[in-house]
Amino acid sequence: MSYVDEVYERVVKQNPGETEFHQAVKEVLDSLRLVIDANEEKYRSMALLERLVEPERVVSFRVPWVDDKGQVQVNKGYRVQFNSAIGPYKGGLRFHPSVNQGILKFLGFEQVFKNSLTGLPIGGGKGGSNFDPKGKSDREVMAFCQSFMTELSKYVGADQDVPAGDIGVGGREIGYLYGQYKRITGLYEGVLTGKGLTYGGSLVRTQATGYGLVYIVAEMLKHNGKDLAGKTVVVSGSGNVAIYATEKAQQMGAKVVALSDSNGYVYDKDGIKLDVVKEIKEVRRGRIKEYVDAVPTAVYTEGKGIWTIPCDIALPCATQNELNLEDAKTLKANGCFAVGEGANMPSTREATDFFLENGMLFMPGKAANAGGVATSALEMSQNSQRLSWTFEEVDEKLHKIMVDIYAKAADAAERYGVKGNYVAGANIAGFEKVVDAMMAQGIV
Ligand code: NDP
Repeated sequence: MSYVDEVYERVVKQNPGETEFHQAVKEVLDSLRLVIDANEEKYRSMALLERLVEPERVVSFRVPWVDDKGQVQVNKGYRVQFNSAIGPYKGGLRFHPSVNQGILKFLGFEQVFKNSLTGLPIGGGKGGSNFDPKGKSDREVMAFCQSFMTELSKYVGADQDVPAGDIGVGGREIGYLYGQYKRITGLYEGVLTGKGLTYGGSLVRTQATGYGLVYIVAEMLKHNGKDLAGKTVVVSGSGNVAIYATEKAQQMGAKVVALSDSNGYVYDKDGIKLDVVKEIKEVRRGRIKEYVDAVPTAVYTEGKGIWTIPCDIALPCATQNELNLEDAKTLKANGCFAVGEGANMPSTREATDFFLENGMLFMPGKAANAGGVATSALEMSQNSQRLSWTFEEVDEKLHKIMVDIYAKAADAAERYGVKGNYVAGANIAGFEKVVDAMMAQGIV
């Protein structure tokens, strides 16, 4: 049996029930076969893959808090510190009822390669809780965040582990978490990113993941003789990534015709009016169906189905495994020729294979959504220097980072004879740097 298959079997056996983690490991290891086979003896003797798939540390803890009725609630809290070979652990916190250890391990594992691809000195981690901020009062969210950070503060620090936001964790949550960290440790340091601008946040961090996604998709189109301007785009989700991907796509001349949330999707043939969406989602924390109250010519449909809307470019920006093989076939049949993943692993393995086998341009999340963590690393740099850069400075750096990531993924794919396969290219390019650092640092 090949080294890759051996290690994958071991992962399935030793991490029972963690299906998303198995899926992520399989996708990465499969696309690294060429590199691993070429170095098998060296990697085997150093148990390199066994170490790569085992998090350095997983912390799990109890999060007790009191709701508005005076009832004590208990949630699970986690931090997966996956790999620190190239820098302090870095990766978001997710608050969503579906969160469990397997999902966080999948996200942490992906983060290791993504962070490496950015070219910045950041290791990989991920954390979160099965707490659902939806429908909770601000006071309840604060009580939860304070309790969560009381425990988490023992394991994080500006040079140790620097969490950020993810699903369910936006500016409000980061603010409460930061306040509690400072209160407990007495340190005013960059322990979290995605902070507000008045207390150490970076301009462009809010927009970074969505903007970065569109920058790299535009770069991919350019290198394949196409242009974003004038194209019809469907974006799933209506959270942070979806909103700012829509904004940048519109600024670059594309027409975004649909957005969604976990209840359903809106189709606006005239182009989504983003000020309406921002008011619903960022101000009122409402549902996407309210869009049609403000724009009666738009159509709301309950349930899944956003990928049935014809488009040139699809940008899945909601959650993992939201786009399956059927969806991929429908997109292709309707004329879609490019897909950029704003979310983490939104396409199932079968959908990804379909895109690659059918000559569609496909930029995987690991490369496509790396603008968020890259700008987080820029926030860390500003905090260390006690400086704040302008919007233009940060945006320019973000744009350059995304162009570089495209070049690294395209170059690695070409070097290993799979030109245009950005899945393999991104995995190989991310892997090479981490492995080099792990080998240099000995058996740790
Ligand atoms: P938000 O919480 O701001 O938004 C998530 C959006 O996705 C919401 O519209 C939400 O709908 C929808 N959604 C969530 N879960 C589901 C589901 N099970 N089915 C259908 N829709 C769902 O999160 P973000 O925009 O920050 O994150 C979106 C994705 O991007 C995630 O995969 C995240 O890991 C990834 N990402 C985010 C980064 C960031 O900087 N924020 C960086 C890199 C990746 P509803 O409101 O109904 O739940």
